[in-house]
Parts: sequence; structure tokens; C-alpha cells
Amino acid sequence: MSEKSDRWVNWGELHSLNKNQIEEKAKEILSSMTLEEKMNQMVADWSLAEGGPKMQKRYNAEPIPAGVDKELGIPGVLFSDGPRGVVIGNSTCFPVSMARGASWDLELEEKIGDVIGIEAKAHGANYFGGVCINLLRHPAWGRAQETYGEDTYHLGAFGVALLKGVQNHIMACAKHYACNSIENTRFELDVSIDERTLREVYLPHFKQCVDGGVASIMSAYNKVNGKYCGHNPHLLRDILKQDWDFKGFVLTDFGWGIRNGALAIKAGVDIEMPFEWRMAPTKMMGYLNEGRFSERLIDEAVLRILRQKLKFAHEGDPEFYSKEKIACKEHTELALDAARKSIVLLKNHNSILPLKRNEIKQIAIFGKLANIPNIGDHGSSRVYPPYVITPLEGIKKSMGNTTNIRFSVGDDLEVAKELAKNSDLSLIVVGYTYMDEGEGSGTKDRTGDRKSLRLYEKDEELISAISSINEKCIVALEGGGPIIVEPWKDKVAAILMLWYPGMEGGTALGEIIFGDVNPSAKLPAVFPKSEDHLPYFDASIKEIEYGYYHGYKLMDKEGYEPAYPFGFGLSYTTFSYNNLKLDKKSIHSDGELQVNIDVSNTGTIAGEEVVQMYVGYNNPAVDRPIKDLKGFAKVLLNPGEMKTINLNLKAKDLAYYNVEMKKWVVEKIEYDVNVGSSSRKEDLLTATFKIS
Ligand code: BGC
Repeated sequence: MSEKSDRWVNWGELHSLNKNQIEEKAKEILSSMTLEEKMNQMVADWSLAEGGPKMQKRYNAEPIPAGVDKELGIPGVLFSDGPRGVVIGNSTCFPVSMARGASWDLELEEKIGDVIGIEAKAHGANYFGGVCINLLRHPAWGRAQETYGEDTYHLGAFGVALLKGVQNHIMACAKHYACNSIENTRFELDVSIDERTLREVYLPHFKQCVDGGVASIMSAYNKVNGKYCGHNPHLLRDILKQDWDFKGFVLTDFGWGIRNGALAIKAGVDIEMPFEWRMAPTKMMGYLNEGRFSERLIDEAVLRILRQKLKFAHEGDPEFYSKEKIACKEHTELALDAARKSIVLLKNHNSILPLKRNEIKQIAIFGKLANIPNIGDHGSSRVYPPYVITPLEGIKKSMGNTTNIRFSVGDDLEVAKELAKNSDLSLIVVGYTYMDEGEGSGTKDRTGDRKSLRLYEKDEELISAISSINEKCIVALEGGGPIIVEPWKDKVAAILMLWYPGMEGGTALGEIIFGDVNPSAKLPAVFPKSEDHLPYFDASIKEIEYGYYHGYKLMDKEGYEPAYPFGFGLSYTTFSYNNLKLDKKSIHSDGELQVNIDVSNTGTIAGEEVVQMYVGYNNPAVDRPIKDLKGFAKVLLNPGEMKTINLNLKAKDLAYYNVEMKKWVVEKIEYDVNVGSSSRKEDLLTATFKIS
């Protein structure tokens, strides 16, 4: 055995330090390090020549290391990607984040984070790079599926839930900071954005994750106001590190996240991934000698890295983090639960669903997506689960042997119509795959932004043909974000949005169709009637301006009626909302309010309901959204049961960013509190209060 240096630190023994001790220890270790050792903390351990071929063979097949120091005993950052599970090995594959956003279930998301943390650690990783919280500005964004939706508040809540779960075990990273919402041109796109829009629309969810204790933030590839995010001191130093007092470290997005090491370090980047490249110690040494930055910046970066490594130093019981945990029964059951809670019932004419097994002699299932594993993108978020239950398999499993299931891809419309005619019911599974949307910029496996928000013409034709023959026609959609359903939605009896539902998605679909599970999901992004109702989007664009409005807030402002509103989703039962009460009529600008509402299940079966709270601003000094989500809760109610739901509203969360004053201002005006089952006006009860 080689001799240990007298500077060697037994990391395993440092797991129970408190905050002050961590700070002291980090400083002590830092002071014992040479300049080169410090620089090595700030860069990935693989060279391009070593890491490139490994990653080409299978991306993230093993943890990607940065800053392993054998001399001092300092562990590396050992990276695993996500977010639909752990990318390494054959891990549990959950529904994609957009689907989980539709669950509006933060407890569930935290449990998913916990499982991801366990599986990542069992694979030898100590860092999860999959808390993706970019805002869905437009549904064509290729990576829509990796985020939770279009609303800042909702995104922040989900990001925090996931990171909390993950950080029970390992470090988490929130990404991509910031304004990363177009894929094809991500390496060069320059987003122009005014300070108020940046602070109020594109950043608050990152701030929530910082307040929630996230260990790390990944800088995005694109530029913001002329500077790459990894070269952007306003984003990284002024806002993240100074205004928000972030104590963790900033890691680059991979490869092209930065172009120049000196600019990156000055701007506030702490680690370059995944290769020793632009921040290679030899280069850094040169920059230092040229006086491009001072050693103080290196010390500051390394202190941030050591602080987080110490905070997450616990090695844990190897038996607990055993490989057997990976995709074990308990974890795949959670994936099933997540799928059940993520599938949105958008239409259910004459309560055609749930189906009664004993009343059906034959079901015809159409669409090639019905019988392929379709769990999402093949980019950096690709998870390789041990199995996937397809919709067809799930329906077969759920129906048992009582009924005859016939499957046809539907390429030949005449054959399909004949089959539909002879069946009690038709179910068509259509939508997208990794070939239509995902990370990258248009290569075979790396498809990038979606080209259309409509279904393929042949799929729309299939829906028209089948629904004209068999009025009991159900459409199940797969995809990473909103789809334009307007051309055919009135022709069919029911519509279900499955998203990419994970390894157990087919099982959940079967259970929902037959009523073993009552759907409870609601849209985390509006389904527009037309692309004209959305912000400007062009996947080939190199410069774009991001405005204040998008999604439901834009539709409210412009008076566009959506096909299905934000927060909308049906259940097999019905709910009623009564007695909206605020505990005060007026509060101070640092005060808070309790909002109570009685929610009852007025149907005949148990169901979960997502109670949503939107604030409106009466006569504000600046232009503000008509409705602004500020709280939500998910509640389970038995038939006939009523529960009083309590939501808390803090005055400080209603502030706007005053650009001239460079600070957040809570206006002394009257506010509306709208509570109900979706963002649609008719679904909300309203009360008012004042801030004085
Ligand atoms: C993606 C990141 C990802 C990283 C490492 C990049 O291409 O943009 O989201 O975390 O690769 O896998």
C-alpha cells in the first residue's frame, strides 16, 4: 500500500460536521493545497482523448469525474445525468419531468428524487445533474420533456421537491441557468431579455432551488444579452452568488458551456465539465501569470466545491446503497405510481371512460406508438430501464382474458376502418418519439426542436377515419409537451395525454382506461388552439428577444381561448368548491394571509383534486399578468367527503422587480385571490384583500 501523505484527509469521517465546522474544515483543507491542486478541483478529470471515446460508446455509462485528489483524499464530483431516472446502468425510468409536473404532486416528486439519489449512489455517483427547471416558453422546444412546465412558481416547487429527495443522498444540480428554451441553436443563440422579465419570469425557479439548498447550478450553453451564460458575470456573480447568496458551485454545461477559461472563471464558473479543456490547469496558470484574474478567484471557487463535498461527505451504508436497489420492485412501483398520477384526461364525452370490462367484446388498438417502448429523448437524459410496458401490453394486462384485443398499426386506412367497424371501441395511440423532439440539433438520434405542434398528417387522417366509423374513439397522445389537437378534438370521444410515461406507463394507461385508477393529473402547460397564440419561435434563429408573456399568461392578456387551459384535467368524479375565505382583509408588505376553501367530492368514487390559487393585481403600477399561480395543493377525497384546504400567501411573493430601484417592490394595492380547479375563469372563486 502506498504511503498516505500527512495532508491526507479521511473524508469518510467528515460526514457529521455542522455548518460552521464544514466552513472551517473547507478553509483548512484549502490552505493546505498547492495552486495546482486547487486548479485540479475546478476541472473534469478526463482529457478529451480519454473521455471522448468513452462517452461516444455509451454516454454517462459510468460516473463522470471531476477533481478526484488521491494525495489529499478529496473525492471527485462524480456526475450522473437525469431527469427521468439515473442515466448510468439499467435504472428505474420514471415518466419524464413534464409528466411529473402534470401530477402537481410534490410529495411524489420528492420520493422520486429520493429513489434517484439512492440509485445514483448505488452506481457510484455522488452528483445528480438532472434537476432541469428551464421554463417552457414554447412547446416546440426539443427538451420540453425534461422540464416541468411553463409556470415559474410550479417549476420552482418541483425543482425543490426533486432536489430535496436527491440530496437525502447526494449532491443535486439545477440546470440550465438561464433562458435555455430553444434547442437547435443552443450553442450560439443570444437571448435578449430585459431585467424585469429575467428576474420575474426566467429566474425565480432557480432562486427557489438556491433557497432550497441546491449544491450546484449548471450554466447554460446559450448567451444572455450578448454573453455566453458561462461567461456572464451578471447571471453568475451579480444575481446568483451575490443577490441570492448562493454558497454552492457553478458547473458548465458539457463541452461548449464555455469558450474561454479566463472569461469563465472571472464570470463565476467553478468547474468545467466533462473534459479538462478550457480551464485546464496549464491554461489557468498562464491566465494567472498574464494577470487575467487573481488567485483569490481560484480560492473562492475551490472553497465552494469543498464546502459541498464536505456537506455530502457521508458514504452511507454500502448495503443500503447496494446495486440490488437499482430498478428494484419498490422503485419500479414508484415509477408506476408516477405514471398513474401523470396521465391527463383531457376529454371524456358522455363519460365513455372508464370502460366496463364486461360490456366490451372487442377493442381495436391503432397506432405504431401503441406497441413500442416510447419513454423519451435519446440525448443526455436517456435512461435504459430493464423493461418497458407499452400501451398495448398494459391494456392487455389490465383487461385480462375477457375481451379480444386487436391491434393494427393503421397504415392501411381501409383495413383499419374495417377493424374499427367490428369493434366496440377504438383506441389510437399517436404522438411523437425521440425522432421528433429531444436534445441536439437535427442529427439522427439527436433531433432537437419539434418541427410542428400538430400530429403527423397520417395520424390525423387515421383519427378522422376511425372516428367516422366508430364513435367510441379514444385518442392517447404521447409527447414531451403540448400538442395542437384542434383539427380533430371534436371528432373523438376521449383524449388522454400520456406524455412519455416511463417504464410502467402502459400499465398505468390500462388501469386508467378500466377505472382501476381515477385520473388526477392537470396540464402544467397550456394546450393552444393555434401556434399563432404562442410567442415567436424559430428553431434556426441565432438571436431572439424573450418577452414577459408566454403560456397561459399570454393567452389571458391577448384574450385567446386555449384548447385546454393550464391546470386543466378531468377526473372520473366531480368536485365542488365553496366558501373561499381569507383570514384577513388587509396585510402589511411583510405579512401573510391564510386562504381557505372547502373542496368536496360530489361524485361516486374517490379521487384526487389539484386545488390551484392564482393571484390577480388590481391597478398595478406596472403591467402584470391577469392571473399568476401562487400556490397549489393536491387532496384525496372519498365520495361525499369535504375537506377545507389551506393555502398560504406571503405578501413578499407578490412583489415585482423595480428596475430603476434595482429591488423587489410589494405594491400597496388590492389583490384578487382566485382559487379553483384550473386557470380557467369559470373554474375559479374570487376574494380580494389589500396590502397596505
Ligand atoms: C446537456 C446537459 C447535460 C450534460 C451532461 C449536455 O449536453 O445540455 O443537460 O446535463 O450534457 O450529460
